[in-house]
Amino acid sequence: MLCMSEKRLAKLMKGSALASQILDSAREKIATIRQKTGVTPCLATVLVGDDESSAVYVRMKRKRCDDVGMTSLLIKLPRETTTDTLVAEVTKLANDASVHGILIQHPVPRSVDKRAAFETIPLLKDVDGVTSEAMGRLILGMPAFPACTPAGIMRLLIDHNVEFDGAHAVVIGRSPIIGRPMASMLINVHATVTLCHSRTRDLPDIVRQADILIAAVGKSRFVQGDWIKEGAIVVDAGYNVGNVGDVDFEAAMERAGMITPVPGGVGPMTIATLIEQTADAAVEQLGISL
Ligand code: NAP
Repeated sequence: MLCMSEKRLAKLMKGSALASQILDSAREKIATIRQKTGVTPCLATVLVGDDESSAVYVRMKRKRCDDVGMTSLLIKLPRETTTDTLVAEVTKLANDASVHGILIQHPVPRSVDKRAAFETIPLLKDVDGVTSEAMGRLILGMPAFPACTPAGIMRLLIDHNVEFDGAHAVVIGRSPIIGRPMASMLINVHATVTLCHSRTRDLPDIVRQADILIAAVGKSRFVQGDWIKEGAIVVDAGYNVGNVGDVDFEAAMERAGMITPVPGGVGPMTIATLIEQTADAAVEQLGISL
């Protein structure tokens, strides 16, 4: 009798399952904060311009706030907003004691100096780790809220018992919101990290060495299946048109040990981390212990 050998497929690391646990515990924390202080934690989101994807992300974040009993405030500004106006709006939120976390939705129009706006967020309200102080603290291993997407990825990897110590982690993408903080987080847990970008030579050969691969490129199915080392842990942070990630998922499934799906992998972890960090920011600002 002919015996067909079955293909071994990667195990899925589902962010949606872990994210709902995080949101459940955030809901309890928010209820306790309200009970102890009478204050409801509040996340303020600033949305500049009319980017359709950004509007969808903001709606999803506000829906999650509602789900856990957190107040969400939306400041919508037109595309032609100047840096001075944006800085003035963020300053108002910085000085408003009823606001505990401030998020400036990416991307902001090119005409605006986004760094100036980010730096206006006080460290305690910087729940997405965008200020230079929060990033510097992350690099030095000092306390601050880290960027939500890489923090959510770390949480997912830890939940799946991934070994970091001495592992070779390859991060593709060096943006301030994903690649750079991701590399710092992996260094802090003793991985050996290679950070790749558009000028990197021989990218497929570098990726083939990765025990842990984080793809944050913003290009549909960019990472090919035959770049992936057998048994590697693959995290796809990409979210491109048509709900497609940065990794050729079907091909990667046949080589990786574990892989995140798109959607349902990194995305839900980002939002859950944002909500959790805003609740924690409220605890710190209200000076209570839970
Ligand atoms: P980004 O700012 O555009 O950065 C992309 C990075 O990829 C850059 O560092 C760029 O290199 C690098 N890159 C571009 N082409 C490359 C190539 N051919 N080879 C190697 N590296 C290359 O993007 P981002 O904001 O980090 O987002 C990345 C992806 O994550 C996007 O799909 C985005 O939608 C997604 N995202 C997901 C979430 C979530 O919660 N799931 C959150 C945020 C973003 P250079 O620096 O040299 O230009």
